[in-house]
Amino acid sequence: MDLSELSKDSEFWFHDGNVVLVAQRGAFRVHRSILSRHSGVFSNIFAIPVPSTPDSSTEQFEGLPAIPVSDSAHDFKHLLHALYDGSNYLKHGEPIPFAVLAALARLAHKYQLDELLSGACGRLASVFSADFDQWRITCGASNALVSLESTDAIEAFHLFSLIGRTDMVPTALYACCQLPFRDIVQGVVRADGTLEKLDSEDLERCLHAREFFTTSFAWMSLTFLDVEPSVRCTRRALCAEGIHKVRLGPLSGPDICQGTQILSDHFLFLAKSMETDGCICGECLAMLLRRQYSLLQKLWLGLPMLMQLEGIEWPSGV
Ligand SMILES: [Zn+2]
Repeated sequence: MDLSELSKDSEFWFHDGNVVLVAQRGAFRVHRSILSRHSGVFSNIFAIPVPSTPDSSTEQFEGLPAIPVSDSAHDFKHLLHALYDGSNYLKHGEPIPFAVLAALARLAHKYQLDELLSGACGRLASVFSADFDQWRITCGASNALVSLESTDAIEAFHLFSLIGRTDMVPTALYACCQLPFRDIVQGVVRADGTLEKLDSEDLERCLHAREFFTTSFAWMSLTFLDVEPSVRCTRRALCAEGIHKVRLGPLSGPDICQGTQILSDHFLFLAKSMETDGCICGECLAMLLRRQYSLLQKLWLGLPMLMQLEGIEWPSGV
């Protein structure tokens, strides 16, 4: 540890702090008693006696023992915010950036801060939900609790595997499948500067899944409207013609439906626009919405298997 290159943190440098924790080049002067109160892991770190003799192996920074931690300064600072600013840090009503929640979950897991871990995961699970109805509210995009970018997907995938939240792994990998090839292959730099890159096994998984989703999307676009009007329809000839026309027209078919976002609301919007345009009646719309839901739900239930993920906690659909 090269102490001459350290920079004191602007917020976490308490004049009465009694230990300096060093994360990368960041130095945090904090209180042993406060950190120990929250985490047994910190208690153990501090329990190692600090010799006071000048020739001791423990390095000193401004007269205090300096203890290195293997975390990034970015992550560690967010952890200190959570410990010093209390539960309010997570309980305010605004969406919290994914990078902050990921830092908190990663370090809460490492330092065994169960309440903090569950608070961070509770927010993350609202986006990376295993429940289809919950997930499809934003289809994996930002909501009232979490703000995120599409490029957060790889970090999310690694984080959920690390902390053992297997229920959130499939939607994170699905989000990885939606990234541009460049990000999938070369990885993405996360907020603390670490490169998040899929290993070769996960890369293969991701590419296989992408191929499957693209094929499924094409299949859905060809077959979704291969259907008779609703049994409750009172204008069957008109609706049958409307469905047939759209099926053969530019709104459907493989030309515009080549994508990996098979679980998006594409077919829901298509059905709604058909009713708005007068092609189908309300009963036929309801039938198409049920059909769309049932086809996507079937895919959803098989998502871990389709992505060759094992040991996943996932709804069974029974
Ligand atoms: Zn109808």
